[in-house]
Amino acid sequence: MAEREGANSEPVDNSVLVLNQNYEPLNVCTTRRALVLVMGGKAEVLEHTLGEWRSASRVFAKPSVIRIVYVIRRPRPLVKLTRREVFIRDRHTCQYCGIRTRDLTIDHVIPRHRGGKHEWENLVSACRLCNHRKGGRSLEETHMRLLHKPFRPVASAYYILHQYLDTYEEWRKYIPEWELGAEQDLTPAAAS
Ligand SMILES: [Zn+2]
Repeated sequence: MAEREGANSEPVDNSVLVLNQNYEPLNVCTTRRALVLVMGGKAEVLEHTLGEWRSASRVFAKPSVIRIVYVIRRPRPLVKLTRREVFIRDRHTCQYCGIRTRDLTIDHVIPRHRGGKHEWENLVSACRLCNHRKGGRSLEETHMRLLHKPFRPVASAYYILHQYLDTYEEWRKYIPEWELGAEQDLTPAAAS
């Protein structure tokens, strides 16, 4: 999570929400990149954040949300299968005991030596304790249960952006309501 800093600090890069010309969330970039787009006349600033960005000769108010002034067409991105993305999908929550922690491992629900594949539907986040408990066994053998059936995430605006929303509250109003509704689907049920 990016930290916000005061007005007199070094030029630290924050995250900036980039909207398409039609105000749809497009992606996230750094403060430096956002200022390049704004200075080049390719984007306008919709929201500022605390702090300033100082270049050798100028001082800029830091943007928090910018809008590209022309339409960017691009296909909806796929979410790449990485450890980090599995943790994000599972909201940093162990899918066995429900503990929320940064110290997670990847567990193959059907172990690899039993033919389990390395794919979204067979991978879950597990805390070290649960991973150790499960070992190389199947769910049936351990009597362990998954909080959620693992799924392949769709790269919706919310999916991409939810990890920033605690830090950048002002971004919320640019994310469609129905996308924010998806928050419910990603929230794990209480651990049993
Ligand atoms: Zn656990």
